[in-house]
This record gives sequence, C-alpha cells and structure tokens, in this order.
Amino acid sequence: KKVLVSVKNLVKHFPIRAGVFKRVVAWVRAVDDISFDIYEGETLGLVGESGCGKTTAGMTILRLYEPTSGRIIVGEEDTTYYFLPRYKAAKYLKNTYVKKFETEDPETFTGVDKKYYEMYKKLGKDGFLKEMLDNIKEKRSEFRKTMQIVFQDPYSSLNPRLRVKTIVSEGPVLHGTIKKSNVIDKVKEALEEVGIHGGHMYRFPHEFSGGQRQRIGIARALLMNPKLIVADEAVAALDVSIRSQVINLMLDLQKKHNLTYLFISHDLSVIKYISDRVIVMYLGKIAEMAPKNILFEEPLHPYTKALMSAIPVPNPEYKKKRIILQGDVPSPVNPPKGCRFHPRCPVAKEICSKQEPQLKELNPGHYVACHFPGTLK
Ligand code: SF4
Repeated sequence: KKVLVSVKNLVKHFPIRAGVFKRVVAWVRAVDDISFDIYEGETLGLVGESGCGKTTAGMTILRLYEPTSGRIIVGEEDTTYYFLPRYKAAKYLKNTYVKKFETEDPETFTGVDKKYYEMYKKLGKDGFLKEMLDNIKEKRSEFRKTMQIVFQDPYSSLNPRLRVKTIVSEGPVLHGTIKKSNVIDKVKEALEEVGIHGGHMYRFPHEFSGGQRQRIGIARALLMNPKLIVADEAVAALDVSIRSQVINLMLDLQKKHNLTYLFISHDLSVIKYISDRVIVMYLGKIAEMAPKNILFEEPLHPYTKALMSAIPVPNPEYKKKRIILQGDVPSPVNPPKGCRFHPRCPVAKEICSKQEPQLKELNPGHYVACHFPGTLK
C-alpha cells in the first residue's frame, strides 16, 4: 500500500502563560511523540476520550497548528517547514537534514532522507536550501489543496453571511482548482454529488438543516480536489438518524474519488463502522494501532479493552463484562511517569510507573504500547 502521509515523532505542546509579563508557566503536552502512516484510499480512525490529543494531532497534520517538533511527510515531500517564516524554515532544514547529511552514513537513508540527500550531494548545502525554500507559496497552496477538513459543528463552520455558492467556491477559486468562469457549474456539480439540489446554491446556511450543512461542508472540501480529508467529529453534532446518511455519503465519495480519510471521533461505534484501521490515543500518546477487525476482536491494550467494554450491544440478553476505569484522565500538563495509563490500569505492575512502554508491533500491523499486552481479560 502506498503511504500518503507519514507522521514522524509528532509533538505539539501548548504554552500556559500567566502573570503581567505573560511568562510561560507550564506546557500542555497535547500530542507527545506519535508516529503513524496514513495509506492512500483508507479510512484511518483516530479515537480516544476528549483531551487525548486526537483533534490536536489532526489540526497539526493540517498545519492549523505548527508542530512543536516532528515531521509531516506528504507523498515524497517533507511539508513540516512550509508554513514557517523563512529563517525558521532554513533553521529547520539545517537541523533536520544538513546535520544528518554531514554526520550520518548515507547508506542508512531511506524515503525523503534519501531523496533530499541526492539533492544535497548534487547542489551543495546552499543550493539544497535554496531549492527547498524556493516556490514556498506554490508548495503551500499545493498542500492546502491536498488536505481538507470537515469540521464538527455544521452550525458554526459555514459563514452565515455568505451564500452557499461563495462558501463552497471561495477556496477552490483562490487555489486555482476551479476557474471563476466555471464556478456555477462546478458548485452545482459538487452540491448534487452530496445530495443537495444545485439551485440551492444561492441560499444562506441558516436555510439548511444540520445534516445538509455538513453536506455543504463536504462539498466545499471536495471542490478542492483533496487527497486527504480530516473529518473531526464530523457526525458528532448530528442527529443519530442523519449520522449514518452522512457517513454513507462519505464512504460513497471515498470510493468515487479515491479519497483518504483521517476520521477523528470519540465514538467507537462510528469508528467501527467507517474505519479500515484504528489508532487509540490516550493522553497524547498512541496506546494501540491495528486494522479495525483485529482491534475490535482482540484488543490488547487495557485501555482499548476498557473502551470497547463500554460500547452498547444490540442484544440485551448478551451481557458483556463492563470494565470500569478508576479516576479521571490525568492532566496533560503533568502526565503520569512511566505508562501514562498506569494510575487507572487494572493490571498495572511496578514497572508501569517507572518505564514508559514503547509502541511495538506484536502481530503484523498490530501495534501496542503496553508492558503486559493482553493480560486484562
Ligand atoms: Fe497497564 Fe502497565 Fe500496560 Fe500501562 S504498561 S497499560 S499500566 S499494564
């Protein structure tokens, strides 16, 4: 499978400022060193309780937040520095690549490292930096076209003062994916694709229901011709009866346009329905990552197991053993040492509070960060 986006050691910390001088007094460690790949054409579900960092991860990948550190590779390009001021971008490139090329064995380079090393060898340090920093505006625009977002709240994500035609076509016209002369045809086409009558493009958002607004949000994303759509709790605000319609629409569009989704949700039943693979996050870290069927049939991380035990089952005769976790999710300002889940884990042992478990591939494609995977029955 082809990797579309590769997230490497992504970290996003937010400062907490206080006092007259607004000094930084602490850091919220929202996302703390996570790595994963998103494959072309798949739906990758990102699930966890609120505050686990899933939305921050999505926003940082889209570069609505700048990462604190780590890399976001899209296709065969490192896009991490695209939205930085020029001097910071140059610093990033020097620290990430030039340093590596000058000190490490080129034989060990793979992926973008290898590609950029060839460039560096051919052009020299200054030539390499110039090549990487040139045409940054075009690179940004290309990035914005590739990645789109569908927001959680269909009521506030559409500008109430603009007509649907403008809302849907603004971005694509700006980025050149559609021509001004084509706007009416293209908007009509996009709206009809999401099940809204083309003639409604002259209406305002308040004239539509929540489900219809979410469809308009999807049409807006579609017109950019994206490869990846990050859906952040895209169906959470919708009525249950509307929810499945929007999910099915998204699945149909995925097939038709070969779209890739990063589907962020706190709702395991929605994740189970839509995803091909699932990542479970806890307090800024990946707890478990696996293909959907494997994760739902045989979760190995105690936290995943507890989450699963809370999914309602349709048959009341069948009583599942519910695993109730003690306490609340600790603060991401001061996360527990060792395994971040240890204060709430029913099978924690001494080592858990001392040593952080690394994310390891236990079975093909099934990654778990736990010292005692599978012990919680
Ligand atoms: Fe529980 Fe220890 Fe595994 Fe953490 S490492 S989930 S505390 S058993």
